[in-house]
Amino acid sequence: MGATTPGFVCAHHHLYSTLARGMPSPPRTPDSFLAVLKQVWWRLDAALDLDMIYWSAKLGAVEALMAGTTCIIDHHESPNAIDGSLSVIRQACAEVGVRVNVAYGVTDRWRDDGTSVDAVDARSPMTKGAKLGLEENRRALQDGTAAMVGVHASFTVCDETLLAASELAKEFGVGVHIHVAEGLDDAGASERLRSLAQDNWLIIHGVHLREPLPGVLVHNPRSNMNNSVGYANPQRSSMRVALGTDGIGADMPEEARVAFARLREQDLTASAATVETWLEQSRDLFPESRNDVVTWNYDHADSIWHLVYTPGTRPITVDIAGRRVLENGLPTLVDIDEVRHKAAQQAHRLHERLKAA
Ligand SMILES: [Zn+2]
Repeated sequence: MGATTPGFVCAHHHLYSTLARGMPSPPRTPDSFLAVLKQVWWRLDAALDLDMIYWSAKLGAVEALMAGTTCIIDHHESPNAIDGSLSVIRQACAEVGVRVNVAYGVTDRWRDDGTSVDAVDARSPMTKGAKLGLEENRRALQDGTAAMVGVHASFTVCDETLLAASELAKEFGVGVHIHVAEGLDDAGASERLRSLAQDNWLIIHGVHLREPLPGVLVHNPRSNMNNSVGYANPQRSSMRVALGTDGIGADMPEEARVAFARLREQDLTASAATVETWLEQSRDLFPESRNDVVTWNYDHADSIWHLVYTPGTRPITVDIAGRRVLENGLPTLVDIDEVRHKAAQQAHRLHERLKAA
């Protein structure tokens, strides 16, 4: 039998992106970070309905479990299927047995007439879409299970919305989960967030963050490389750092390896202990992860220096809150073939819808 560890935590995920794999190419090759958002993600999220969200989340949760990730902090957006979207994600994860913290990413980029804008004027009034998003966050918070208040990014919300999100989070004693300074377009974000951010906020990316903010900086190294936004170099910041995937799966040992490779690329003397700290600080965000037990197919999976140099480690069993949810590397509560089959059907619907759009 291999080593055991607590559950891993993905501190920033987009479960809705599971069905994006294999999606039709955008009409033009995006040549900037904003173009990636406009031509890939903002087309995809607008095409989602609740069935797609459910199966995307369910497959994403199964894949997380099969990688030893027992807790997911999710950030969701589906502007044409806002109501009930967070309940659907919760249900899908509960059926797999994976813990999830949900948030709806509020934005004002959709005007009330259905057209969209690239950047929102801070002084403009709150849009209907943002109101619906805040209501969905409130519903999730009122349920009493894990949730935060999501905001897409400061450059896509007006001041009124940003303040309302911050107030809602305060009302429920939780933080705001927001993308900050991922691309250069949003480099000035800290000026607008400085007076609002709290220690319980999740500051996602911070690649171009000019000054530290209260809250935890969530580093997503593979996603940053994929979007060519630069290296966040989280070591330079005084902020606490956690690790996320930004929707590219939820294999946290794998993300830790990428984080370590990027760290070493900058500094040969860097230690894997730094990455271990990031993994532990991710667990601090979801302390229940420490009650979960993962048994690995590798004797030294509990040593960070082994883990970062051993690609392909897999869990054999996973117990979440004392319940066996993975046995022989496969989920016990759901039929993996059925989940893959149903998710593939929804992916087909989604991709056809994107071709027609
Ligand atoms: Zn993200």
